[in-house]
Amino acid sequence: MTAAIYARRKLLKTLLISRDIGGQVLLTGYIENYPGFVERSGMALADILERQAKEFGTEIVMGEVKRVEKAEGLFRVISDEGEFLVRALIVTGGSSYKRLNVPGEEKFFGRGVSTCATCDAPLARGRAVAVVGGGNAALQGVELLAKYASRVYAIHRRDRFRADEILIERVKKMPNVEPVLNSEVTEVRGDKKVEGVLIRDVRTGEVKELRVERVFVEVGREIKLDYVKHLVETNKIGQVVVDRAQRTSCEGIFAAGDITDLPYGQAIIAAGDGAVAALSAYDYLMEKR
Ligand SMILES: Cc1cc2nc3c(=O)[nH]c(=O)nc-3n(C[C@H](O)[C@H](O)[C@H](O)COP(=O)(O)OP(=O)(O)OC[C@H]3O[C@@H](n4cnc5c(N)ncnc54)[C@H](O)[C@@H]3O)c2cc1C
Repeated sequence: MTAAIYARRKLLKTLLISRDIGGQVLLTGYIENYPGFVERSGMALADILERQAKEFGTEIVMGEVKRVEKAEGLFRVISDEGEFLVRALIVTGGSSYKRLNVPGEEKFFGRGVSTCATCDAPLARGRAVAVVGGGNAALQGVELLAKYASRVYAIHRRDRFRADEILIERVKKMPNVEPVLNSEVTEVRGDKKVEGVLIRDVRTGEVKELRVERVFVEVGREIKLDYVKHLVETNKIGQVVVDRAQRTSCEGIFAAGDITDLPYGQAIIAAGDGAVAALSAYDYLMEKR
């Protein structure tokens, strides 16, 4: 939506195609780190951005993009709401956090179960929490949470973490962090709020409960790019490779936000990159002209 606002302020004819308005921001409870936006819900932020994008004349089509094809100097965007020929394209399809898919996870999602330690760490203040995952994102989450939580269980199903060694060493030295290796979470338990997780030892099958009030699932993000990945370069984890002007490897296609190879999945960063992508697209179109 930021890209749309910037494109319209350059008086480009701008079409925004999306399945929903707000993306992952709709899943956040209170968003506290979007500068200039205080004490409001993610949904309120989505509403404001939508209003602003519409005020400047963005045309919005609610639908799913199925495929993008090159078409004689243009791009054909094929969606379930019809086909559109465009001169430039900004891809901002975002990402979704992988889930554990265990009982209780959905029930408490956004109310004790989170997929974003960076976003929700302050909610762990003074509580015992579990972080599930063994990569860099998980251990960075553990490191951050250890500053707020009384105890952090770092649960990983393998016998060692996969994160960078330096990070593993730092985390191991933190007095309130307890690694729980060879273990997988089989259930998030609780009545009205999260009260614990059941973990199963993958070697012995033994099941026990850890008493925690917050669960952070940090088992990776998923990028869905089938509709355009034949046109743009991606990295080994499937993110779109962009340069500092948000240009992809395909002339005329730009990308911004969580779908790109920038490692920080945050709303303000997606918005900033969206602005850059729109200005870049404008420059590209002016050069073409
Ligand atoms: C639980 C949770 C809490 C979070 N808390 C915070 C926080 O406190 N602060 C913060 O800064 N960030 C937070 N984040 C992260 C933040 O929401 C994301 O970084 C940000 O939303 C990324 O924006 P984006 O536009 O790149 O992608 P997204 O928000 O993922 O939006 C992508 C959009 O593209 C649409 N789309 C995808 N593919 C297609 C297609 N083929 N056709 C049509 N539409 C398509 C999707 O439906 C969606 O609307 C949180 C995320 C989660 C999940």
